[in-house]
Order: sequence, then structure tokens, then C-alpha cells
Amino acid sequence: MLRITIDGPAGAGKSTVARELAQLLGYTYLDTGAMYRALALSALREGIEPDDEPSLAALLARLDLRFERGRIRLGDEDVVDEIRAPAVDRIVSVVAAHPRVREALVARQRALAQDGGVVVDGRDAGTVVLPQAECKFFLTASLDARADRRHRELLSQGLRVSIDAVRQEMSERDAMDEMRAVGALRVPEGALVVDTTGLSVAEVVHRLAEACRGRGA
Ligand code: C5P
Repeated sequence: MLRITIDGPAGAGKSTVARELAQLLGYTYLDTGAMYRALALSALREGIEPDDEPSLAALLARLDLRFERGRIRLGDEDVVDEIRAPAVDRIVSVVAAHPRVREALVARQRALAQDGGVVVDGRDAGTVVLPQAECKFFLTASLDARADRRHRELLSQGLRVSIDAVRQEMSERDAMDEMRAVGALRVPEGALVVDTTGLSVAEVVHRLAEACRGRGA
């Protein structure tokens, strides 16, 4: 049972591809971005500022974060849809830049992945969380293609926002994810880089599955 990591910028198709690859291989899917988003959502609800590291660390220590059948929950509440709200998009990268937040969430992610048979997606999955993973990928796509995907996703949720606003928010989030001191977004050593611009989900999943099978998945 291998450990598979998928990193890359926002909107590169990581979560859809990771979920389908996990299903194909009979592995568990671990969405690390959902964990940072759930913390950001809780901070919004509790009125904690995104730059208040001590309060965020304290909040995280008492947060009942769970994955049940692939859906993220805060205690008994399913927050799968709420964590994708634009208000969360706006602050999540600030919340995720704090070293104490990352240390605590990385520890939880390693514990969840320890038995293998996992597909972990995020920004630092192959560099920090599981640097020894047998199979590492980095998905990327042009900013326009990524903004277009995210825009469609928001429209399908009934949220009317302009594509320009989505593109702007996304490039700001990418810059923050790339420049932070801890767990910055970068291509992991030994990762296969796949540009998903113009490729279907099925094509990307197929390419990744082939690479994983080549390594014994
Ligand atoms: O993957 P997703 O877009 O849901 O992630 C939301 C945000 O969470 C990212 O923009 C990033 O700031 C943060 N994140 C992170 N490290 C991860 C996963 C996500 O910093 N491993």
C-alpha cells in the first residue's frame, strides 16, 4: 500500500484527481486543504483574526476535526460546502502560513497517513508531510484554466462572482502559498509534474494511475 502525494497551486484539479485516483486504487483520500479551510471557517465563526497565531493554535488544539466517509466534519457538523465559501478562500492562506498551525496539522496528517494506502493532496504533501512517499505528483495549469475551473465550481454552488475576481483571489493565494517561510508550495524532489491545462480529469487520473502502478500500486 503506497503513499501518494499530489501538490500544486489552487484550481489545478488536485482534489478531483486525488479523489478519483484513490477510488480507482481502493485507497483513502486525504484532503489536507480541507483541514486548513475548516480551521479558517472556525476562526471566522469565533471572530478570531487570521493573523492571530496564538489564538488559532489554541482553537486548533480544541477543534474536533474528523473525516467520515471522505467528508470533513467539525464535531457532528458536515462542513464540506461551507469550507469552500469565498470568505474562507480570502483568509485561508493567512491562517495556513503560521508555523504553529502547520506543525499541528502536519502531525495530524502524518498520523492519518501512517498506514499507507493513501492519496494526500495539498501544498506540502510531498515536501513536508510525507517526503518519503513512494509516488509524488505536482499538478499545475495556466492561471486562466485554473480560474475558469474555480469559477464554474462557484457558479454551480449558486455563487455569482466575476471570473476576474476569482483570478485575482487565486493569484494572491498562490503568491502567499509560494512565499511563506514554512511549508511553501514547491515541486517535491522526485515528483512527476503534470500540466493539466486542456486535459480531462480522466486523462490526468489515467496518467497518474499508470505511474503509480509502475511503482507497485
Ligand atoms: O487545496 P485548497 O485550495 O483547498 O487549500 C486551501 C488553502 O489551504 C491553500 O491556498 C493553502 O493556503 C492552504 N493549504 C496549505 N497546505 C496544504 C493544503 C492547503 O497551506 N497542505
